[in-house]
Amino acid sequence: MTTIELVQGDITRQSVDAIVNAANSSLLGGGGVDGAIHRRGGPAILEECRKLRASRYGKGLPTGHAVATTAGDLDARWVIHTVGPVFSATEDRSALLASCYRESLRVADELGARTVAFPAISTGVYRYPMEDAARIAVDTVRAAKTDIEEVRFVLFDEQAYEVFARRLR
Ligand code: ADP
Repeated sequence: MTTIELVQGDITRQSVDAIVNAANSSLLGGGGVDGAIHRRGGPAILEECRKLRASRYGKGLPTGHAVATTAGDLDARWVIHTVGPVFSATEDRSALLASCYRESLRVADELGARTVAFPAISTGVYRYPMEDAARIAVDTVRAAKTDIEEVRFVLFDEQAYEVFARRLR
């Protein structure tokens, strides 16, 4: 059984086995969660991302996929980078967002992680409505076949926390 926890705060401050990054496909860093992770995690993460780009992801990490690196100076063993979809009002991209959660958990399982922290993927610069994003996140994690003991959703602000809390009830 996987326990789902909800925390309001900064994902870079979590002590877990794996911290999931809402990365962009370049793997070379960005704003939001991505910027915060690289800032606090230090240069080792970016260095490994560059190597992954050179070896496996020359065209970028595809949307909905996930890949792990070291967590550098973060209080975690790994960062799992996943690329959420940009929200579209005309195209349903929820399967891609669900894939981010599923693939991240799959990678976490492969690594032997027991605790994983997720941000609200795609709800920042990628503009996914929080209600939809929370539904997809919670439902996908609940349905996942995984050995992860604890999945922790880390929501930056109170509003996002409340939306996830309603969905979990
Ligand atoms: P995306 O590009 O996938 O939309 P963002 O990083 O822009 O990713 O935003 C995703 C969500 O993460 C947003 O709801 C944003 O408020 C939140 N966020 C930003 N910084 C942090 C942080 N340090 N810890 C947790 N959540 C964060």
